[in-house]
Amino acid sequence: MPSKVVIVGAGFGGIAAAIELQRHGITDITILERAPEPGGTWFHNTYPGAACDVPSHLYSFSYAQRRDWSRLCSPQQEILDYLNGVARDHGVDRLVAGSSTVTSCSWDDEARRWTVTTAEGASREADALVLATGQLHQPSFPRIEGADRFAGHTFHSALWDHDYDLRGKRVAVIGTGASAVQFVPVVAEQAERLTVFQRTGNWFVPRKNRAYPRGLKAIIKRVPGVQAARRMYMFFYCELLTQAIRHPNTLGRLLGWRSAAFMRWQLRDPELRRKVWPDYTFGCKRVLFSSDFFPALARPDVDLVTDDITEIREEGVVTADGRLHEADCLIYGTGFRTNDFMFPMEITGSQGRDLRDEWAGGAHAHLGMTVPGFPSMFVMYGPNTNTSGGSIIFYLELQARYLRQALQQLDARGADAIEVRREVEAASDREVQSRFAGTAWIRCDSWYRDDSGRIVANWPGSMREYEEKTRELDPAHYEFIGAQLDHG
Ligand code: NAP
Repeated sequence: MPSKVVIVGAGFGGIAAAIELQRHGITDITILERAPEPGGTWFHNTYPGAACDVPSHLYSFSYAQRRDWSRLCSPQQEILDYLNGVARDHGVDRLVAGSSTVTSCSWDDEARRWTVTTAEGASREADALVLATGQLHQPSFPRIEGADRFAGHTFHSALWDHDYDLRGKRVAVIGTGASAVQFVPVVAEQAERLTVFQRTGNWFVPRKNRAYPRGLKAIIKRVPGVQAARRMYMFFYCELLTQAIRHPNTLGRLLGWRSAAFMRWQLRDPELRRKVWPDYTFGCKRVLFSSDFFPALARPDVDLVTDDITEIREEGVVTADGRLHEADCLIYGTGFRTNDFMFPMEITGSQGRDLRDEWAGGAHAHLGMTVPGFPSMFVMYGPNTNTSGGSIIFYLELQARYLRQALQQLDARGADAIEVRREVEAASDREVQSRFAGTAWIRCDSWYRDDSGRIVANWPGSMREYEEKTRELDPAHYEFIGAQLDHG
C-alpha cells in the first residue's frame, strides 16, 4: 500500500476519503486544511438561516446514519457537529492539520512522489494525493464598477460578519441563489430596510423545515426501519428531480407545473410575481427550496430590484434606471468561483505539466476524479460530479471507495503510481458531455458552465448511474507506473 497519503481539505470529501483509506489499512494520512478546523463548507458558511436543503437522512454518510436529526433539513451547526462527530468516531479527526493552506502540489517523475507545500512554509511528501477542496469554497465577488468605493459595511455570505449588527440598518443584498434565499428572510426580520438585487429569477419548491414534532422524532428514533425508509424515499425523490432535469419536455414539465403552482400560490402580488418569474426551463439552474423567501420579499420594508446594477457608489447601489439605492451594509450573496476548483493552488504533474494547461479547454477528469498526466492524484467533487438533484455525500462516498480501490490495485501490482490512460479519460469526457444534449442544463447560463459554455460542474445522470460507473475500478483504464507484476 502507498505509505503516505496527503488529503487537501477536511470537509465532507476529505473526511470521507480518510475514513475509507484508514478502514482499509492505509494509515499514514495527513489532511491539510486551510481553516483552523474541519468542516469545509459547513465551517465557513455560517450565515443566518444556513441549512442544507437536502434532507439529512440522505445528506449523511451511509455508514453513519442518525435517527435524532432535529428536522428534515438540518441547520449548519448540526451538520458541522455531525461531520466532526463522524470524524472523531472513526479516528480521523487527529489526522487534520488545520491552518495549512496548500499552495502547490508537484509530482516528481524520478522519485514518483508528490511534494505538497503550504503557505505556512511546511512541505510534505506523498505517494498519493487527494484533492478534496470541492467546487464551492472560493467566494465570488462580482466585478462591479466602484465596488471598493462603498462607504458602508460589506461582506460575503460565506464570510458572514456576525459582529455586525443589522438591526436598524439599510441593507442591500446582491444575489438570489441558494444561500441568499436562506438568509434574506432572517435579514428582513432584522434590518430597518432591505433591498434585494436579483439578476435572474429562480424556480422554487416548498420547504418549511420546522423542527420535527416530538411524536415524529420518537417514531424515527424508535421504530425500526423508519429512518432507512425515509432515506430511501428521499433518494428516489432526488433521482426524480434529476430525471426531470434530464427530460425537460416530459417529467420536467410536470415538476415545472408543480413549482409554478406553488409560486403562484405564494406570489399574490402580480408585480412581484412578474419580477421574480424565471424565464428559463425548470431545472436549468439549481431549483431552490424555500417557503419563506417570497413572503420575505412581499414585506413592506423589503424591495426587490431587478434592474441591472451599473455601479456602486459610496452611498449605495446604482441601477440601470439611474436610481441610487442607499445602504449602510452590502451583502454579497453572489456564490462561488466554482470553475476554479482547487486553483489558485499550483498543481504540477508528470513532466512539469501544469493542471491549468491540461484544463485550459475546460476542466475534465475520468469520473471526475483522475486526470491523465497526474499520477496518483485523485480529485473529490471534481469536474462533472456536482448534483442538481441529489446528495453530494453519496457521490463523495463513492469517490472515496473508488480511490481506495485504485491504491489497492497499485499495491497488488507492486507499482509506484497509477495514472488514467489518456484515451480512456478522453472517451469518458466525451460521453459525459454528450449526455447533456436535450437536458434542461443546457437551456440557460449557470455556474455549472465555464466561459465557453461547456458544463464542467455537473454529473449528467443520476446518483444510481454514478454508483454503477464507480463501483469497480477497471484496471485496464489505468497505467501502473513501475509495476512489478503485470496483471493485464
Ligand atoms: P449562486 O447560486 O451561484 O447564486 C449567486 C447569486 O448571485 C445568483 O442569484 C446570481 O445571479 C447572483 N449574481 C452573481 N453575480 C452577480 C452580479 N454581477 N450582479 C447581480 N447578481 C449577481 O450562489 P449561492 O447562493 O451561494 O449558492 C451556490 C451553491 O451552493 C448552490 O447552487 C448550491 O449548490 C450550494 N448551496 C447549497 C445549499 C443547500 O442548502 N444545499 C445552500 C446554499 C448553497 P444569476 O442567477 O443571474 O447568476
